Amino acid sequence: MKILVMNAGSSSQKSCLYQIDGEQLPDLPPVPLWEAQIDWTHQPGIAELKVNTANGAIHKAEIPLQSRGPVMAQMLDTLWSGATQVLASASEIDMVGHRVVHGGQYYQDSVRITPDVKTRIAELADLAPVHNPVNLEGIEAIEAILGDLPQVAVFDTAFHARMPERTALYPVPYAWAEQGIRRYGFHGTSHRYCAQRAAQLLNRDLKELRIVTCHLGNGCSLAAIRDGYSINTTMGFTPLDGLMMGSRSGAVDPSILLYLIREQGYSAEQLETILNQESGLFGVSGVSNDLRLVMQAIADSDVRAQLALDMYIERLKQFIGAMIASLGGLDVLIFTAGVGENAPNVRAEACAAFAYMGLQLDLDRNSGRPRDQVISSADSSVVVMVIHTQEDWAIARECWQIAMA
Ligand code: AMP
Repeated sequence: MKILVMNAGSSSQKSCLYQIDGEQLPDLPPVPLWEAQIDWTHQPGIAELKVNTANGAIHKAEIPLQSRGPVMAQMLDTLWSGATQVLASASEIDMVGHRVVHGGQYYQDSVRITPDVKTRIAELADLAPVHNPVNLEGIEAIEAILGDLPQVAVFDTAFHARMPERTALYPVPYAWAEQGIRRYGFHGTSHRYCAQRAAQLLNRDLKELRIVTCHLGNGCSLAAIRDGYSINTTMGFTPLDGLMMGSRSGAVDPSILLYLIREQGYSAEQLETILNQESGLFGVSGVSNDLRLVMQAIADSDVRAQLALDMYIERLKQFIGAMIASLGGLDVLIFTAGVGENAPNVRAEACAAFAYMGLQLDLDRNSGRPRDQVISSADSSVVVMVIHTQEDWAIARECWQIAMA
């Protein structure tokens, strides 16, 4: 079965084609036959397309950008023509899986896309104005180019949609919850994939494990996983809540915003920009949202860079503690994404806070870039792992499971 994965962001479109043979999913994520990326912001009025294939072919092009549809058509063309051709024709594609950021309260699992599903995704654009419209655009582009192919929506929120109300609701007037103001959580595809992969590597039943997954990338969130589902997470109504991130603040006292509006005349738009793009590691350090550059500045004795990292780790420890409290204990702690997979110091400092409960890292295993490996010592009370998150592969698996159901 050949599955095309479409992962649309605000400024880029990543796509890949997987082939899954046989009646069972492979244990190891396969290498995609074909991968493509469109950078919509390459230059004003020009998009950049980059394509590469498993057998080493590469294609690059700058494409005039009036609307996105023709650029996506050109991207898909490289599947069945030119140097990067991997298919005889478009009809070889069996299914298309789309990452969709917001599924609201409607979707607890991935679904086959129907006109009703499209209407819901469009309605939910209110809650995810940057992402849901571009996700829908991707779905419609595939319809226009590939016709009546089965398409699947894989929602970032779905893994958290079974959170109990006591966790999902905010302590505000109940009427707000009735309007949909509640915690949804995000990064669900990554949290789910990492938990499933950890259980597979440990040869344990996922449903028996209490797991905290730490997705630490540019955006950061934790999930508390029990019985195979997220029962708590740090992101909320939007992906701004919870942990300190690259350029997002995470949780702050809402009265700060009221104060700034009242006393200093800030607008909602200004505050939204500041909290999303000018806060977090970048806002505190003044250096960058990229932890690598913050660590370089620390090596050069930059005091504010050190403060930013200390705050990042402090908040990470606090929220891991909160997730453990929701679970009533912890069997497996997982680190993933750019920071989680590549920053041994962050993992070591976060884990040190839980030494009191018998969690012990193996410092040799933690050093460097372990991938899909246990990094705790043999006598640790909690298994600590680094899992390489593979959201595109997770989306392809969801499609395969829906096709096989
Ligand atoms: P992601 O959103 O998962 O792609 O993660 C991107 C972030 O990961 C970057 O902004 C960096 O902060 C972080 N990152 C990537 N590589 C490293 C590294 N070697 N050391 C520390 N942080 C890293």
